[in-house]
Amino acid sequence: MKDLKDIISFIQNSYNTKEFIPLHEPRFRGNEKKYLLDTIDSTFVSSVGAYVDRFEDMMQVATGSQKAIAVVNGTAALQVALRLAGVESGDEVITQALTFVATANAIAYNGAIPVFVDVDLDTMGLSPIAVDAFLEEYAELRDDVCYNKTSGRKISACLPMHTFGFPVHLDKLITVCNKWNIPLVEDAAESLGSKYKGRSTGSFGKLGIFSFNGNKTITCGGGGAIVSNDLEIGKRAKHLTTTAKRPHPYEFYHDELGYNYRMPNLNASLACAQLEQLPLMLQSKRELADIYHDFFAEQGVNFRTELPDTKANYWLMCVELENKVERDLFLKETNENKVMTRPIWQLMYRLPMYNHCQRDDQKNAEFLEERIVNIPSSVR
Ligand SMILES: *Cc1c(COP(=O)(O)O)cnc(C)c1O
Repeated sequence: MKDLKDIISFIQNSYNTKEFIPLHEPRFRGNEKKYLLDTIDSTFVSSVGAYVDRFEDMMQVATGSQKAIAVVNGTAALQVALRLAGVESGDEVITQALTFVATANAIAYNGAIPVFVDVDLDTMGLSPIAVDAFLEEYAELRDDVCYNKTSGRKISACLPMHTFGFPVHLDKLITVCNKWNIPLVEDAAESLGSKYKGRSTGSFGKLGIFSFNGNKTITCGGGGAIVSNDLEIGKRAKHLTTTAKRPHPYEFYHDELGYNYRMPNLNASLACAQLEQLPLMLQSKRELADIYHDFFAEQGVNFRTELPDTKANYWLMCVELENKVERDLFLKETNENKVMTRPIWQLMYRLPMYNHCQRDDQKNAEFLEERIVNIPSSVR
C-alpha cells in the first residue's frame, strides 16, 4: 500500500464528494414513488396485492428459476428454505464461518446445528475441497443418508454463501454434495445478479434465497425471496410462508405449522421498481469496480475481482490488505476521513452462540478475516 491519502481522495473523487461516503446506500431512480403511490391508492398495502405477484414473477425470470416466493426478509427466507430442504431439529448443516450471522441463525432457528467448514481464498465462500475433506474424515452414508460419525447427527444440508456477490465454486461443490447425498441450499442474499457459468446464483441449489434489506444491491426496505427449480417445493414455500392456510373463500383452516412471512404489497411495489433497475445498477457497479481495480493495482493493493466462469454483482467491493496492522491503519484513516470502510465479519465460532460448533482448521477463513476490508460500493 503506497499512500492512504491518495486512496481516500480517489474514493472521494469517484463519488464526487468530500462529504461522508457510506458503504452502500440505496438508489431510487425509477418507478419507486409511482408504484408506492399506486399501492396506497389501491388500499392493498398489506400481504395481498398485485405487486407481490408481479415481483414473484419478475424474480423467477431474473433468477431463471421455476418459482420465486416473496417474503419479509432474507433471514426468514433462509429459515424456511432449510426446512423445505429437509433440515429438522437435531440435524447438522455444513456452512462457512466467514459469513453474516443470519446464515448460522437460520440453521439454529430450525433447531439444527451449524458445522463450519473452511472457505476458499479465491471465492471467500465455502470450499468444495474442504467440504470433501471434512466429509471423508467425519461422515458416513447409512442407507444413502449422510451422518456425522463424531456426533451421530444427520447432515441434512450444505449451505454455501456467495460472499459479497462472488460465486463459490458451484460445480465442484455440487459434485461433493451429490456424492454424499446432501441437499444444497444457496445463501444468495448478497449475490442477486451474479452468475456462475451463465446461470444465476441461487438457482443451482434445491432452494436459494435472496435479501432486499436496505444495504443490499436492490432494496424494498426489508424483504427476501425463496427460489427453487422444483415447482412442488416452490408451492410448499408459498404455503408455509402464508400461515399454511388452505385456500377457501371464508374458512380458516391451516394444515400445518406455518409462518406469517409474507412480503407486504407496499414493500413489493418498491421491490418491483428496484428490480426493473437491476441491470443499470449492475452496470454502474461494474464500472466502479473497473476503475477501482486499475487504481488499486497502481497502489499495490489487491482489489478483489470476479473469477473466470463467473460474473460478480460487485455488491460490496473489497480490498485484501497485507496483514492486520495494515488493515487496521486502513480502517482508521478512511473512517476518520468520512470514507466508510469496514472489516469483513468476525468468524461465526467467535460468537457465543456458535463457539461450541464443530469446525475444521479454518486456515483460509482466519487469513481473510484479518485482511479483507469493504470499501464504498453504492451505485453512482
Ligand atoms: C443480508 C443477508 C441475509 C439476510 O438478511 P435480511 O436482513 O434478513 O434480509 C442472509 N445472509 C447473508 C449472508 C446476508 O448478507
